[in-house]
Amino acid sequence: MATDYDAPRKNEDESESIEALKERVPDKGSAVIDEDPDNPSGFELQGADLSDLDLDVVVLPPQADEFTCVSCFLVKHRSQLDHETKLGPICMECAA
Ligand SMILES: [Zn+2]
Repeated sequence: MATDYDAPRKNEDESESIEALKERVPDKGSAVIDEDPDNPSGFELQGADLSDLDLDVVVLPPQADEFTCVSCFLVKHRSQLDHETKLGPICMECAA
């Protein structure tokens, strides 16, 4: 009786676990693609790369209180600005 009860029980367990796995695998995959806040995939990496490039480009131009001298091409503070030309600002060192 014990064996009889055990046999179908095992079978059900196996088929159940396999079905559960089958259902879980695609579910996990779609979950990762749909919402990947914890698991950044290729999409996330590409976005990070692009934003990194964007940040670099944004950081390069002078800040509001800075300027790029058109003579020495150095970024200087506004206090170093001597005068503006048609081409752009000239720093005190280059104007001297
Ligand atoms: Zn200069």
